[in-house]
Amino acid sequence: MKEATSNEFFTDWKYAPAPESTDHIKLNKQYDLFINGKFVKPTSKKYFDTINPATEQKLAEVAEANEKDVDLAVTSAKNAYDKVWKKMPAKERSKYIFRIARLMQERAREFAVIESMNGGKPIRESRDVDTPLAANHFFYYAGWADKLDYAFPNKKPQSLGVAGQIIPWNFPLLMAAWKIAPALATGNTVVLKPAETTPLTALKLAELIRDSGLPDGVVNIITGFGKTGAAIVNHPKINKVAFTGSTDVGKLIQKSIAGTNKKVTLELGGKAANIIFDDAPIDQAVEGIINGIFFNQGHVCCAGSRLFIQENVADIVIGKLKQRLETLIVGDPLDKNTDIGAINSKEQLTKINDFIKIGIDEGAEMYQSSCSIPSKGFFCKPTLFLHTSQSHRIVQEEIFGPVLAIQTFRTVEEVIEKANNIPYGLSAGVWTDKGSKIFNLTSKLRAGVVWANTYNKFDPASPFGGYKESGFGREGGLHGLMPYLSF
Ligand code: ADP
Repeated sequence: MKEATSNEFFTDWKYAPAPESTDHIKLNKQYDLFINGKFVKPTSKKYFDTINPATEQKLAEVAEANEKDVDLAVTSAKNAYDKVWKKMPAKERSKYIFRIARLMQERAREFAVIESMNGGKPIRESRDVDTPLAANHFFYYAGWADKLDYAFPNKKPQSLGVAGQIIPWNFPLLMAAWKIAPALATGNTVVLKPAETTPLTALKLAELIRDSGLPDGVVNIITGFGKTGAAIVNHPKINKVAFTGSTDVGKLIQKSIAGTNKKVTLELGGKAANIIFDDAPIDQAVEGIINGIFFNQGHVCCAGSRLFIQENVADIVIGKLKQRLETLIVGDPLDKNTDIGAINSKEQLTKINDFIKIGIDEGAEMYQSSCSIPSKGFFCKPTLFLHTSQSHRIVQEEIFGPVLAIQTFRTVEEVIEKANNIPYGLSAGVWTDKGSKIFNLTSKLRAGVVWANTYNKFDPASPFGGYKESGFGREGGLHGLMPYLSF
């Protein structure tokens, strides 16, 4: 047998496929609206297809809620609030939230597989990040439910009523948990709408909530498009709007509730700066950058989509990034080896490809992995743009895909100025050996979250949210209770 040279060794081997089984997954052909503890047919009589973005195959049909359906859901949430949930002792509410968390843990595998099938994210992410974090949010807020007086001493926290919650497609189950868990813990009831391309784990969550015995109407989950979302926002019986999604829709929501008593939190777009100093642990930083923008296809509002490298280590870092890019596995989201799964929808893939073209036209140097991508489904090669400048659109605008715009810098002042020179302010990353530099930057970067020598780390106890066009309000932690309370 011929012995491989070291070069061949790095280029010739492949992992054997390790696909997660879908045998245990039960999906209905058709899903109705979850209103008042039951699945009910939409009065609209309309359904739309939801697909697997990795295969383009239809997974199920999902109900499209119209204004009448929204009214039924909101009315059911209002009745449940007035008659049951608001009156229930907090420690009893806590038990229900705890039960939801336990059931989610028991069904974790099912949730993870459906998340990957419907959303396109690698099973490693949905299994190790999305699903456990979602369960942890319910556990965490179950703990707060009967301790609100302790959390806000002398303030007499009161629930608000019905929360209308609208979530995007990048973390369907996790965003549902971020929204529902604090709302329930603070004594509010819920009408939640998942994104039109990723309704299935939210509908599975509806089944779980039904099985948990949560009183009817406390959580209602309805599906539809932007019009359904707008009908929730504008319904007069909604007391609180919680939205995660695009900055454009966030602005629309803010306009439409202006002059009402509705409280609102908006978690919108981002264009995070990941900053590497010359004293950083370079290999760890490279791995952090890769994780920050390429895992989960860049479908993360806090993705580290801008990279600033201190000039004297730029060649080393870029060389290592290119090498690492070559080893990333793009393909079947259900394969446990996959690093980059499917782009969530055809529209999103078109948007990403348009931005890649814009980057080339703007004169930035593009570098892509030489990997092949599946012919069916929506896939995008991990892409670097070198020699970008602040004025480039690929530097200023959110792409929401596996595309990294790279710049260099010389001084701390320069990189702070460049990192902040953007309409967004959701998150940032700093890589350096010096604690003093970390503290200097964390106080000057206008970003809601700044990670130091790590990236994309989440914990239910830690608040998350933005500045500027990235929105306002915090989710997670003690801070995440506040938007659902009046004092
Ligand atoms: P993205 O660009 O990430 O898809 P969107 O802001 O378009 O983000 O969508 C996020 C969520 O907001 C989805 O559930 C979507 O259906 C909903 N949505 C879209 N338009 C509106 C609107 N005008 N009012 C309320 N919700 C909306």
